[in-house]
Amino acid sequence: LEPLFSFMIRVRVPGGVASAAQWQRMDALSDAYGNGTMKLTTRQTFQLHGVLKRNLPAAIQGFNEVQMDSIAGCGDVNRNVMCNTNPHESAVHGAVVGIAQAISAHLTPRTTAYREIWLDGDLQETTEAVDDEPIYGHTYLPRKFKIALALPPYNDSDIFSNDIGLIAIEENGALLGFNVAVGGGLGMTFGMNETYPRLADLIGFVPADKVLDVCEKVVTIQRDWGNRENRKLSRLKYTIDRVGLPAFVAELHQRLGYELAPAQPYQFHSSSDAFGWTGAPDGPSHLVLFVEGGRILDRPGYRLKSALREISAFHTGEFRLTGNQNLILANIAPAHRARIQAILEENGAAPKAEQLTALRRGALACVALNTCSQAFAEAERYLPQLLDKLDAVVRAHGLAEAGILIRMTGCPNGCARPYLGEIGLVGKAPGRYNLYLGADHFGERLNKLYREMLDEDGILRELTPLLAAYAANRAPGEGFGDFVVRTGVVKATVKGLDFHD
Ligand code: SF4
Repeated sequence: LEPLFSFMIRVRVPGGVASAAQWQRMDALSDAYGNGTMKLTTRQTFQLHGVLKRNLPAAIQGFNEVQMDSIAGCGDVNRNVMCNTNPHESAVHGAVVGIAQAISAHLTPRTTAYREIWLDGDLQETTEAVDDEPIYGHTYLPRKFKIALALPPYNDSDIFSNDIGLIAIEENGALLGFNVAVGGGLGMTFGMNETYPRLADLIGFVPADKVLDVCEKVVTIQRDWGNRENRKLSRLKYTIDRVGLPAFVAELHQRLGYELAPAQPYQFHSSSDAFGWTGAPDGPSHLVLFVEGGRILDRPGYRLKSALREISAFHTGEFRLTGNQNLILANIAPAHRARIQAILEENGAAPKAEQLTALRRGALACVALNTCSQAFAEAERYLPQLLDKLDAVVRAHGLAEAGILIRMTGCPNGCARPYLGEIGLVGKAPGRYNLYLGADHFGERLNKLYREMLDEDGILRELTPLLAAYAANRAPGEGFGDFVVRTGVVKATVKGLDFHD
């Protein structure tokens, strides 16, 4: 007998776009082999939790049948490629999603091991690792690697938190190319100040037809230059800070055989999801649904999973996973619009935006306890309870519609991007959190440690007067993160190396 091992399976969804058939399959597999729920993650993937070891092959074969896989869902390779999800952004958005999917395919490991182990059961002896892996070689990367694309003014994929961030530049409705940013990453380790979150540096512009080449060359530099002695210092961000950005860019230009052009102007105006319906009444429309904690489930009075199952039986558009753990029913046929709304309402799964504070609508939480072995504290299961109390505070101060970004994780690894939260809460022990403040609203400035080891009373005690002061004294259009920096509550974090200052 062996212990009853259970696993999490992460299923990648490049660009966050899944078909109705893929949604139906994940829904069915979560019932057959998981814990009956699905998690939509902050990297636009599905997670199934509680899959028993003996059920792994059947679950993996199940989503393979609808062209989904978990290759590079984890490991020292390029992970799920993110892309922002604005279906109303016409042809340019479609082109950007296509490039996200092409980057994902190009950087997927070539190994046949996944197929042999999980699909065929026909194990081959592989000796030609280098030939099989032209980009990753014998030893793959020193650490995981992340890429995200965004189409301004939306930065819901938080591109600066990635090893490579690509900002789409368009002109007259055509995609010109991408501004390229390198060296982002949010994970750190408590007690090791040589580890820190860092935002990516903008290094230039590349035409759309060369973006795959640029991604590949950045990956190969990290493969060759990354720290392979200490995994805590092995992400690209540390490589760049060790060698210096000019040396890194010079090497990139040398490997490319050409130079990047100067970065083009752009502006982000939002890193949140805009909930509700968009689109013309007589054409395709789109519905952005709030999914608390990214958890698709049924509970009394709220049958989101059942409602989506019913919708997936006739919806001819897509299910788009956002980087903020929400869901877009995209490209809804005009004839289906009223039916979809009715199904959601019948199942209590269509809360009106105004019923929820903007604080709750924008909140992110990782899975943490009791699912993640890295977690020191709760996140997904606890944040809604904390928000019940914070909602009362923001409502009392007239801030119900102030879109303050709050993000909670169970450890400092940063999966829910807490260091880009205007309020970041990072678990340090059961029931205790470090409080970080001062990120901006658009994913372009990190926050800073404000208080350590707070319990719930401590969190409320610290935040209540700050929210009151913000309500009373904010400048027009000023975000909470900008306010606490302007008023000297915390110093601004400029890049990453100064995060612990
Ligand atoms: Fe990620 Fe840490 Fe949360 Fe686990 S507890 S999901 S490692 S941030």
